[in-house]
Amino acid sequence: MDQVVDRIIEREHNLLNLLQDRTPVVETYLQNMTQDPQLGPVPKNDRYFLGRMDLSKSIDRKDYMKPQSMEKRLLGGFTKFFKVEYRPLGFSWMIVADRSDFDREHYDFRYAHREFLGEVRCLVFDVTPRKNAGKGRFLGRIWVEDQHFNIVRLNGTFAPRPRSGYFFHMDSWRLNLVPEYWVPAYIYSEEGDFSAGAKNQIAFKAQTRLWGYGLKNGSEGELTQIRVDSNVRDESPTAQDAPPLQAERQWQQQAADNVLERLQHAGLAAPEGDVDKILQTVVNNLELTNHIELSPSVRTRVLLTTPMETFSVGNTIVVSRGLIDVLPDEASLAMMLAHELAHIVLGHNAYSQYAFNDRMLFSDESIYSNLGFRHTPAEEAAADTKAIELLKNSPYGQKLDSPGLFLKALQASAPHLPALLTAHLGNNISEKGTVTRMSALINSAPALEANKLDQVAALPLGGRVKMNGWDDRIELMKSQPVALTSARDKQRFEGSK
Ligand SMILES: [Zn+2]
Repeated sequence: MDQVVDRIIEREHNLLNLLQDRTPVVETYLQNMTQDPQLGPVPKNDRYFLGRMDLSKSIDRKDYMKPQSMEKRLLGGFTKFFKVEYRPLGFSWMIVADRSDFDREHYDFRYAHREFLGEVRCLVFDVTPRKNAGKGRFLGRIWVEDQHFNIVRLNGTFAPRPRSGYFFHMDSWRLNLVPEYWVPAYIYSEEGDFSAGAKNQIAFKAQTRLWGYGLKNGSEGELTQIRVDSNVRDESPTAQDAPPLQAERQWQQQAADNVLERLQHAGLAAPEGDVDKILQTVVNNLELTNHIELSPSVRTRVLLTTPMETFSVGNTIVVSRGLIDVLPDEASLAMMLAHELAHIVLGHNAYSQYAFNDRMLFSDESIYSNLGFRHTPAEEAAADTKAIELLKNSPYGQKLDSPGLFLKALQASAPHLPALLTAHLGNNISEKGTVTRMSALINSAPALEANKLDQVAALPLGGRVKMNGWDDRIELMKSQPVALTSARDKQRFEGSK
């Protein structure tokens, strides 16, 4: 076992070497919890952090959102007696046990047992800091696969606890995304006592996701790839030869292509893939039954982020991963896509400024202040009206109960989920705690029944879209939904382990 421990330590150092020039995207979505007598722990309010991580010297990060906007959110929801300031960096610490001193000098390793994690055969060790090992050392358990002895899971906290703060408890998972390496992908953190009647100073659940390991700022590989792409596009008729209307459309399409390429480069959009085909099918169903023929044809893409949002640029509709996760069925997805299709049909998407490439030259961290696809309230209302018309003519016209129910459930949770409902590129789905998007469908929806187990109005976050953190490709999970046994299992809009 001593040899195994040596190998684990060596592999952990190899992993840090592999990751030292990588700057993955790191996203944390956190919900502060409170007790509901009927539903158990439910979200009270929420926070969102998004940035890029730098693993070269220490664990460091740069944030995508302005400090001010974060500050505003920090002020919400504090009790008078106790103040918690979440430091986003804290949630990313547990991607490794110890950045600088993961060795026998600082830690004792005790073999516990063998165990399967899914289909991966693992050795399990308890890891404790040695006496006088210093502050903020890992304390917990590691799972190590028995082929190369890479750590695949870490569970525990850091110790000793500092006098003026907390180290959170975390469960950190890695995925075998590169041959022979297991890369940090997901961290679940939780603090507080969720049993009935418990009094908590602090009670939250948070999920941290990492992706974009394959992104390399300004690397040669990526530049070549962009050049290859633009050569392919050169085969289409050139703008000079095209009649004016077609030239205008190509110009808008150029803007859309620039925007999506830039978002993908910043780690915010998934490359084109199978999930797009599914979204595309739903859009086609809406178009066919409404006799809509657009050129260039409508395309769809997925944002990799959690906050629920949609937007469109040119004839390309973009939907966030978090929104796809929580939508209960195809009709609800159609509702969200219909709103954007309506903007396209009504000619609201005039973003030709992005056809100029100089407007794409900014740092990844400033992307939210350089790109924006927001419509006026009048355009939003017009798109909603048009979208309902499109839906009623479509195969989804007979299935509008579930989209309505989804919006009703969202309305019930909206006042507690401002961060999940803050769009960063498009329009908000709710304003000041009231759902505004497609809200006419709420009135005709059936009543929300918390105790009715077969009424699934919305799904938890993280249960539908699977992400490959190395190449940012996504797919839908194949797992069958687990049967609910109590109303407390519903976890609408919540993060689950
Ligand atoms: Zn809109």
